[in-house]
Formats: sequence, structure tokens, C-alpha cells
Amino acid sequence: MELYDVTIIGGGPAGLYSAFYSGLRDLKTKIIEHHPQLGGKVNIFLEKMLWDVGGQPPILAETFVKNLIEQAMTFQPTVCLEQKVTMIDKQDDLFVIQTEQGHTHYSKTVIIAIGGGILEPMKLTLEGAEKYEMTNLHYTIKEMERFRNKNVLLSGGGNSAIDWAVELLHVAKHMTVIYRGDDLKAHEAQIKKLQQHGVTIRLQTEIQSLIANEQKTAIDEVLIVSNGMEERLAVDDVLVCHGFNREVSLDVAKGIDIKRNEHQQFESIGQCKTTVDGIYAVGDIVAYADKVYLLVGTFNDAVLAVNSAKTYLQPTANPYAMVSSHNEKFHARNREILATT
Ligand SMILES: Cc1cc2nc3c(=O)[nH]c(=O)nc-3n(C[C@H](O)[C@H](O)[C@H](O)COP(=O)(O)OP(=O)(O)OC[C@H]3O[C@@H](n4cnc5c(N)ncnc54)[C@H](O)[C@@H]3O)c2cc1C
Repeated sequence: MELYDVTIIGGGPAGLYSAFYSGLRDLKTKIIEHHPQLGGKVNIFLEKMLWDVGGQPPILAETFVKNLIEQAMTFQPTVCLEQKVTMIDKQDDLFVIQTEQGHTHYSKTVIIAIGGGILEPMKLTLEGAEKYEMTNLHYTIKEMERFRNKNVLLSGGGNSAIDWAVELLHVAKHMTVIYRGDDLKAHEAQIKKLQQHGVTIRLQTEIQSLIANEQKTAIDEVLIVSNGMEERLAVDDVLVCHGFNREVSLDVAKGIDIKRNEHQQFESIGQCKTTVDGIYAVGDIVAYADKVYLLVGTFNDAVLAVNSAKTYLQPTANPYAMVSSHNEKFHARNREILATT
């Protein structure tokens, strides 16, 4: 049984910064993440520019995630991917963390960083649709250039769908937006941009079936249905933005009296402490007055939670880590960095 000081459940921005800070505080740290990759929900908007992260000039979300991961690995935490935590139990003074895949992890403290939970795009339920995910059926945009000069059919009418449509305006050769509702549900200003560019927007319209090319490897045409009328549209790529299924089913064993609100968020009693000693919550899954549900908010939570864990484990420890500008831990690394610049 390998015992950790801090086990972080969730490898999004809050979990990643917690891992860095936990290492800074000399705590033996592990991250458990459900997806095969770290980064959390930023992975669903990798091609967007971020402007609202302090001290950071506009940065591609993909680069931001890479930087976050690099920083999180500074003190070499253990990282367990593709493990979904289902249960937190307590035996004596230790937390026992169970995963759906049958792993058991032991930890002195736990930081819950599961954000909005596990997000999976709502996929087309058409038979055989999944095979085109390898070619030209997309549920998010990972690489904008993929769509350059392409004839794109975008299905969806919410904010995320219309935001992608606006981003594609200057890349795609032609775009058709279809939506099953009577009106698009996105911000008016974004809808206006599409209209000003003459994008074809078809309401009360749905994908009926996908018609493959001769080799049966990619979608060649899409059969859409609009008010009972069928029509075939030739496409290069199909982007489906029908929202996300969200799963926040992390359980705690009987006897662990942890308080969650009606949105399933963990209530903080201060300093990102939950109602259970030794369990902390950070990022989008924690609730307290004045909580900021943005990337910058996750960093603040991480510092609070890790410092809380540190003083829980070592009551005489300093309540804060030594600032990095004066922290001896970085002296050797600083010399290396300065030598190469
Ligand atoms: C479309 C969109 C655009 C956004 N744009 C911005 C922006 O421009 N600026 C900004 O500041 N913020 C933005 N945000 C908000 C920002 O992304 C979130 O505040 C931030 O990602 C929260 O980080 P987190 O680590 O708390 O949660 P998440 O990013 O949700 O990460 C949680 C992680 O936990 C994992 N997980 C969940 N359950 C389990 C489990 N049981 N076991 C193991 N792992 C689990 C998930 O797979 C995920 O990787 C945006 C959000 C969205 C949806």
C-alpha cells in the first residue's frame, strides 16, 4: 500500500495547480483523472484564445493547458489517468479512494477537483455514426486548420455551437448551421455575426442520416429533414455541438458527513475545507460566498486547499508556502533557466 499525503481527484486546472502547490509544500502528491489526458474542460475549447488569466497575454487554450501540465509536473506527482473515482471511504485516519476500474488509493488527505464532473459530448444516435469520428464527424474543434476551405455542416444552436460557427467564419469555405429549435439559443451578437456573413441558418432542421463515400470511410452527404421535407447536403466535415452530458456521481461512504448543495457542489466552510476534516474541494465543484468560477478562481482555491491540507497534516507548519521569488527550492532551477536565456 503506497500512502500519499494528498490525493487530488480531477486533473483540470484546479487539480493541476493543486498538484504544483502541493509539491511546493513538500507533500507527496497523486492526481487521479478519468480522461486519458489532463486539462479538464479546457480540452473542449483548445482552439479558443484566453484573455482573462492574470499576467498572461492572450494565449491559445491549448498552450495554456500545456503550460499548466508542465507546471503541475514540477515536483513529479504521481499521475493516474483513465481512472474514475467512484467512492471515498475512511479507515482510521486514512482515506481510501476507489475507482470504477477497481483500483484502490490510500491518502492522508483528499482534494476534490472534479469541476463540472465528467463531460462527454452528446453524440448522434444514428447507427454507425461513431466510425466517422475517425474522419470527418467532429464533436469539438481540436484544430481549426482542419476546417480550412471546407464545406462544413454545423448542427446545434446553443452558445458553444454558435461560438464555433463564428470562429469558423474566416476558415471554412462554406458553412450551413442547422438547429432543431425555432430560434437559436446563443448570444444575439454572435448570431448577428453569422447573419452578416450570410451564413445559411436552417431552423427546425435535424440530421436524419449520414451518407458515406464509396469507401465507406467518411461522410459524403448528410440527409437533413426540415419540417418533414428531406434534403441531401454535400459536406466535407460535420460538426455536432449538441451540448454535454455531465456526470458528478462521486460518492462518499456512509459516515462521512460531507455537505453538498443542490448543484452537487461541495460546500466550503472556509479555506476550501469541506465539512469533513482532511477533505478539501477546489475549482468549479466548490461552493462558497464570492467564489469565482473562472480559471483564476481555481488557482486561489488550490492555494487555500493545499495550505489547509498542510496544516491539517502538520499543525505547526507555516500556513503559507514561501513565495517562489524567495524560495530556496527554486535556486538551482533558476540558475539553470538563467544560464539558458
Ligand atoms: C466553453 C467554456 C469556455 C470557458 N472559457 C473560459 C475563459 O475564457 N476563461 C476562464 O477563466 N474560464 C473559462 N471557462 C471556465 C473554466 O474552464 C473552468 O472554470 C475551469 O476549467 C474549472 O476547472 P476545474 O479544474 O475546477 O474543473 P474542470 O476543468 O471541469 O476539470 C475537472 C476534471 O475532473 C475530472 N473528473 C471529474 N469527475 C471525476 C472522477 N469521478 N474521477 C476522476 N476524474 C474526474 C474531469 O474529467 C476533468 O478533467 C470556460 C468554460 C467553458 C465550458
